[in-house]
Amino acid sequence: MREEYAYLHEMLLEALKQARQNGFLGENILGKGFDFDIDLFSGAGAYICGEGSSLIESMEGRSGRPRIKPPYTKVSGLFNEPTLVHNVETLTAIKSILFHGADVFSKYGTEKSKGTKLISLCGNVNKPGVYEVPFGITIREIIEDLGEGMKDGSEVKFLQLGGASGAIIPKTLIDLPYAYESFKENGLEIGSGAVLVADNTNRIIDFLDSVQTFFLHESCGKCTPCREGNRQLSNILGRMKEGVATDKDVASVERIAKIMKYASFCGLGKTAPTAVLTAIRYFSDELFSKGDVYEECKVTIDNKLWLCPVDSPY
Ligand code: SF4
Repeated sequence: MREEYAYLHEMLLEALKQARQNGFLGENILGKGFDFDIDLFSGAGAYICGEGSSLIESMEGRSGRPRIKPPYTKVSGLFNEPTLVHNVETLTAIKSILFHGADVFSKYGTEKSKGTKLISLCGNVNKPGVYEVPFGITIREIIEDLGEGMKDGSEVKFLQLGGASGAIIPKTLIDLPYAYESFKENGLEIGSGAVLVADNTNRIIDFLDSVQTFFLHESCGKCTPCREGNRQLSNILGRMKEGVATDKDVASVERIAKIMKYASFCGLGKTAPTAVLTAIRYFSDELFSKGDVYEECKVTIDNKLWLCPVDSPY
C-alpha cells in the first residue's frame, strides 16, 4: 500500500484479522486443507514501484529501482522466490469470471477486449470519478454520459489517456471506442485507465510542463536517458512556457524525447516523454508555431520551419 493511502492501512489490517478469525485466511481454510495468507506491505509511494521488480526491491527494504532481467520475477522475485506481480484490478476480474462464469463476463466488451474496465475520469468534466465501463464504449460517451459533459459548457480541447505516461490526443479522436484493439490501431495505450479531459482554456505547453515536472521527480535515477532526459526536457519545457526558449531548445525537444523512449532502462523512462511526443504529433502548431516569435526562435527541422511560442496569445 502506498504511503498516500495510509489512512486505509488500519482498515485493511482489521479486514485481514477478521478474515483470519473467521477461517477465510491462514491454515486449513474452512477445514478444506488449503493454506493461504495475505501480508500487507507499506511503500513510500513511488511511481516507479508500479514496475514489478522495483516493487519487489521496495518490499525487500531497498529503494524502489528496477532489477536487471533476466532473471524475471516469475523465476526469481520476492526473496528470490518465483513471484507473480498482478494489478488488484486483474485479481478482481478473475473473481468476477470465477463467480459469474466466463460467458457472463464476456457478454461485456468487444471481440478482443472482453469484460469491463475501471477508469478514472478527471479534468474539466462535471462529474469526475471512478467508473466501471464495458470495453467498446466511446470516449465521447464517457465524457458526456458518465462525466455529464464539460464544465460550464466548455469545449474539449485535448485528452490524456492512460495516466501521466499516456498519450495526448485531440478531440477529433473522441469517438474512438475504448478498447485495446482500437487504441492500438491509433498508437495509444489503455494504461492505468485514466481519462483526463482538458478544455480550451488549457495550454498544451503548461500541461506538458507539469507532466515533465512530475517525471523529473519520479525518475529513480538509475539510468542516464531517463534521469538526465527528464531534467533536460523539464528545463526546456519550462523555458518554452515562459517564452524564453532558444532555437537550440526547440530543436532538442523531440530528439531528447526519442532518446528517452528508446534508450531508457525501464517503462517509466520509455513512457515519460509520451505526452511530449504525442503533443508534437497532434499539436505542433500550437507548441511551436503560433504567436509572435523572436527571430532567434526560428529553427528549421526536416526542412520545416518551427517556431517556439514566445509571447503567444493562446
Ligand atoms: S528509466 Fe527512469 S525509472 Fe527506469 S531505471 Fe531508468 S532512471 Fe529509473
